[in-house]
Amino acid sequence: MSLDADVIVVGAGPAGSTAAALLAAAGVRVLVVDRATFPRDKPCGDYCNPGAVSLLRDAGALPAVFDTGASAISGMRVYAQDGSRFEARFPMGHGLLIPRLRLDAALLGHASRAGAAIYEGVAVDSVCSHPDAVEVGTASGCRWRARLLIAADGMHSVIARRLGRLILPAAGRYTVGAYFSGLVQTAPGGELHLGPGLYGGVAHFGNGIANVCMALPRRLWRHAGPRQTFDAALTSLPALAEAMAGARRESRFRCSGPVGFADRNAVADRILLIGDAGGQIEPMTGQGIFLALRSAHLASGVAAEALSTDDLSYRKLFTYAQRRRREIAGRLAVSRWLQRLAFHPRMTPLLVRRLRMRAELAGDLLGATGDVLPPGGILSPAYLARLLL
Ligand SMILES: Cc1cc2nc3c(=O)[nH]c(=O)nc-3n(C[C@H](O)[C@H](O)[C@H](O)COP(=O)(O)OP(=O)(O)OC[C@H]3O[C@@H](n4cnc5c(N)ncnc54)[C@H](O)[C@@H]3O)c2cc1C
Repeated sequence: MSLDADVIVVGAGPAGSTAAALLAAAGVRVLVVDRATFPRDKPCGDYCNPGAVSLLRDAGALPAVFDTGASAISGMRVYAQDGSRFEARFPMGHGLLIPRLRLDAALLGHASRAGAAIYEGVAVDSVCSHPDAVEVGTASGCRWRARLLIAADGMHSVIARRLGRLILPAAGRYTVGAYFSGLVQTAPGGELHLGPGLYGGVAHFGNGIANVCMALPRRLWRHAGPRQTFDAALTSLPALAEAMAGARRESRFRCSGPVGFADRNAVADRILLIGDAGGQIEPMTGQGIFLALRSAHLASGVAAEALSTDDLSYRKLFTYAQRRRREIAGRLAVSRWLQRLAFHPRMTPLLVRRLRMRAELAGDLLGATGDVLPPGGILSPAYLARLLL
């Protein structure tokens, strides 16, 4: 059977482009297909945490990302429901604010320069395993075959669906966001505004434009359109509403969902699922891009080894699932714990005030959610005692 590549990567978001770049740089023949034509937009808070920045550096992609005009940030400001707030610096490294339109195009360009062949405007519709190859196809009848498939086609992954693994977050939130000018910048870095069961993130790019993105429970959509839903949610976030009093919308609203927690079995014979295709984390802590990049690094390492021994069985590839689980389990636990705390009407303002007084505790929190400190630290009895007592 003739093959088009050693590896086909479906989806050219941060996960797919990074896996493609790493494998192509290691001499593997890689073919990337994406249904979109780049640059393409994607609903996002446009925040890369310091852990993600470090992985971009490891993949050699950071200069290309900075060339697009990304702005570095040294911390975050968090607002509770009652307007109280704390501000913290990352204990190490820095984050980036960059529109996904530019980030994802820069990463795809990096994969192309590393030697990956790129096909844009190709929506994969089917996947089929043969004894010595895996094949993906489109509705129009195009077919590509390779020794290994890396599925990086996002939270609604067609490959996961075809494998019967499309688990979506239970009771997930739905998101609405847009770019605005004229927003008052209350903090130098990113902002997170917590409300009753909902939250909003703000990314100021330093050119007078800011991304405001909210995540709301389904019931708050009440059959209204994005603008009405956004405006209604804003009334629950007073500090953000005040900052937006003179703002003007500069883009259409982008909606998505459900977002939340979902984990999938990320391995099959000749197939690895990475990034959101392999599972999601609630976007509130801004760790999705980090996990997409991290899974790309793990998958490309396992893929290179499996290709070199010509063993692409489920058993061999399962190493990826084990390593991935080991790395994300603690992060998911922290993120779930913060979810429970973040929406409590009395507890959250109390904790936010304590974090305001205790800069080192706030720094540890940002280090854990920024993926530069081990996640377990902020679940330790010592940390919790210092925070709560
Ligand atoms: C509203 C919102 C805000 C967020 N904010 C942040 C944030 O600020 N920071 C952060 O770290 N994370 C954030 N996240 C999470 C983050 O966006 C994702 O975790 C990240 O994009 C996952 O990257 P990925 O490469 O796995 O998938 P994606 O970035 O979704 O890329 C998937 C790619 O696959 C392509 N594709 C899909 N289907 C097909 C098909 N059938 N055939 C071919 N190609 C296909 C798509 O066109 C796309 O290019 C947010 C998520 C949402 C929804």
